[in-house]
Amino acid sequence: KALLYNMTPEQKVYVDEWNKEHPDDDLETTNDELEAGTVEQAKGFDVVSVLQIFDINDEEVYQKLASYGINHIALRSVGFNIINFDYAHKYHILITNTPAYSPRAVAENTLTSAMYLLRKWGPILKNEKEDLNFIREASLMSDEIYNQTVGIIGVGRIGTAVAEMFHALGARVIGYDLIENPANEAFLKYTDFDTVIKEADILTLHTPLEPEIENMISAKQFKEMKNTAYLINAARGPLVNTHDLIAALQNQEIAGASLDVMTGEEEIVMKKFTSISELPEDYRELVKMPNVVFTPHSAYYTKTSVKNMIKQSMTDAKRVLNGQKPVYPVED
Ligand code: NAD
Repeated sequence: KALLYNMTPEQKVYVDEWNKEHPDDDLETTNDELEAGTVEQAKGFDVVSVLQIFDINDEEVYQKLASYGINHIALRSVGFNIINFDYAHKYHILITNTPAYSPRAVAENTLTSAMYLLRKWGPILKNEKEDLNFIREASLMSDEIYNQTVGIIGVGRIGTAVAEMFHALGARVIGYDLIENPANEAFLKYTDFDTVIKEADILTLHTPLEPEIENMISAKQFKEMKNTAYLINAARGPLVNTHDLIAALQNQEIAGASLDVMTGEEEIVMKKFTSISELPEDYRELVKMPNVVFTPHSAYYTKTSVKNMIKQSMTDAKRVLNGQKPVYPVED
């Protein structure tokens, strides 16, 4: 018997599907966040599951879950920074996550970003929608993906899927990772960080956010990049220095960018604005540029991903209840 917090209609479809396919299980849902004021709803359940951006920092939450006999929080996300592991350990609460709900979702979004930028759909759409201008201007001439170099920083689950896709399209794919996987050499050439920065026509980031790689792409890297290159960030905002990105775009040190994540995105994602002046300053600058596209942290957001978040988190919930090892335990 599981209580899934932070429920939304698009997730509920797959909760209902699970209940139908597993008649012995009882998944119940609430729209609420898991916090001190809502933890009592969990009384009587075996496990709770959450998908929220707000930290669960109140000791009372962990203490009450433990007092209800709940020893597992099944996150329906990759990220687990919302958990206070001191309290989770203190009250013997196991944390699991869903790190592999769909690497292809982000990889396909990266491919979409690359083709959108390369084929100059930003300026084409601006001309068409804002100016009713259908002139095939010389500036709209583009390149073909098969003779481009795609540079990937972080060749893990998502980076590997990205490499396979661009290789299949005939692009030259180079990558940098702290750990090289020989199996990836069928479709990618590993090289060092600086070479990826200098040689990429399309530079795409797929590392986690670690303190030592915050601002990994800053003024120095923008100066080293080709001025015809595009940057794609669907990893984490702080990997890129936004101030330096704006300067690089203004100075035409790079040709454009696709940003699914950006520092300060909490201020705009899931919100609607009525004028540019309401946007945070960095966004005001970037939103005006036709060679820049934002997506609202939606690279992962496909039906397959949402279904797998439910499926993988509840599979681990069942495994733990049956005394088996979870597939995706999280340790701080
Ligand atoms: P992963 O753990 O499978 O791969 C990450 C790779 O980065 C690993 O191969 C690791 O060795 C490498 N790496 C770590 N630190 C590095 C460094 N300093 N330099 C070079 N390489 C380094 O993770 P994944 O599933 O491929 O996801 C990658 C990231 O994508 C996640 O951490 C998350 O931040 C982001 N993500 C974004 C979305 C979205 O919707 N935009 C969705 C899911 C994941």
